[in-house]
Amino acid sequence: MAAQKIIRLSATWVVGYKDNDHRLYSPGEVVYQGERVLFVGERYTGAVDEEINAGNALVGPGFIDLDALGDLDTTVLGFDNQPGWQKGRVVAADWQRRDLYSREELNFNKLYAYTHLLLNGVTSAVPITSILYRQWAEDIDEYRHAADVAESLGLRAWLGPAFMAGHNVVEADGQIGMRFDEARGLAGLEDAERFIEEIRMRDSPILRGFLAPDRIEGCTPALLAALSEAVQRQECSVRLHCCQSELEVNEVDRRFQGRSSLQVLADAGLLHKKMLLPHGQFLGGKSPTQASITRDIRLLADSAANLVLCPLVSGRHAKYLEQYLPLREAGVNMGLGTDTFPPDMLTNMHLGTVLSRVVTQNVQAASAADYYRMATLGGAKALGREDIGRLCPGAQADITIISLDEPAMGQIFDPITAVVINGNGRDVRGVIIAGEKVVWDRQLVKHRVDLDQLHYQAQRQFEKLMRTYPERSFQHPPCSRLFTPSFPLNPRT
Ligand SMILES: [Zn+2]
Repeated sequence: MAAQKIIRLSATWVVGYKDNDHRLYSPGEVVYQGERVLFVGERYTGAVDEEINAGNALVGPGFIDLDALGDLDTTVLGFDNQPGWQKGRVVAADWQRRDLYSREELNFNKLYAYTHLLLNGVTSAVPITSILYRQWAEDIDEYRHAADVAESLGLRAWLGPAFMAGHNVVEADGQIGMRFDEARGLAGLEDAERFIEEIRMRDSPILRGFLAPDRIEGCTPALLAALSEAVQRQECSVRLHCCQSELEVNEVDRRFQGRSSLQVLADAGLLHKKMLLPHGQFLGGKSPTQASITRDIRLLADSAANLVLCPLVSGRHAKYLEQYLPLREAGVNMGLGTDTFPPDMLTNMHLGTVLSRVVTQNVQAASAADYYRMATLGGAKALGREDIGRLCPGAQADITIISLDEPAMGQIFDPITAVVINGNGRDVRGVIIAGEKVVWDRQLVKHRVDLDQLHYQAQRQFEKLMRTYPERSFQHPPCSRLFTPSFPLNPRT
């Protein structure tokens, strides 16, 4: 085989990595051969086979999305139609669970979602989908297809079907209850392990299997114990939604002898460096005190477990990490997730800095650089990878190119601040993963995707799913009562 081409990518700004942190070069160059970076700096003196000049742009490490939107999102329905439990965000107890999407539609959702992640500059994704429209949770076939999609598009992905032993329901009296089927949860875990083996056999340089139980309140002690063993056996990452809602901490308190969610995980042997924990908003258990919050922060710090912050989705739900500063001070690793549409890491970084300043009432609590680090180095640490989230010799050539030429970008003094506070995902012009061009000029180029067709089909599929909301919503009101437009729709005469 001929030696792989040495490619030089130059731009007005390059984010390299040196002395354990990012570093700016202006102008700068990244030189890579195959999947590996050879050089990052001002001037490479060796011979190169190909030159790419990105012009007035910020060339930096690709973003790592630890709670990546892997679905057709429905937030646009629920954002102004509250409360969620009355609007199909929790299923009615009398709903006979069934799959509301066909296999083909589920497959389409993966293509749609992964395409949007790439367009937003995400190079490493740990996707998540909703379990609300399903007969139970996800299955292995769905993820075999997800692996095909990720690989064909060129997205680096950690994949695994979500499984659960139980889920929330709205009871006939409007109270929130739970329904359990532990055997199903344990079978789901077995399938998830089988899927990890399959991904291993597949031997793709960009795919990994991981374990994705749905959320802590949907686990039983037996499922948590089995999960803990499976993580050891597979030596893989694991993600569990935890400390996310008041409902959850109350439920965990009730079923797990008054312990906090993090205590339950620690006791199950599940708090460790391979654990990814969205969203970390409710620390200290059901009745938090300063002491119980501090104890939970210590559990996180001592175990090296990773928090996943999703500022956009959290802010939309009127909540953010109040313990941001003590968590940081304790050295808890934090990465970012998109979790909702648009899967825009730049918007999440901007909102993350804003929300951190608001909840701490401290303008110095968080900087653009802090959140840029979370989207890159924090994510890499959470996934146990020292070769992604940074550009330096030996690292993977996972690169996101953000245009600084758009008038909407405003003025540039520091490119990180500019892209975080003035930019958004639509400014991403190119994405390279493992040395391969995946997005170029805002088009998918490894596997061509017709974005107009994708958009059209997504709208049709969304409208179909919307029509199924009455079936699974509390008291089954028609769509016209579940979802009202922002202003009265003028009646046609
Ligand atoms: Zn989430």
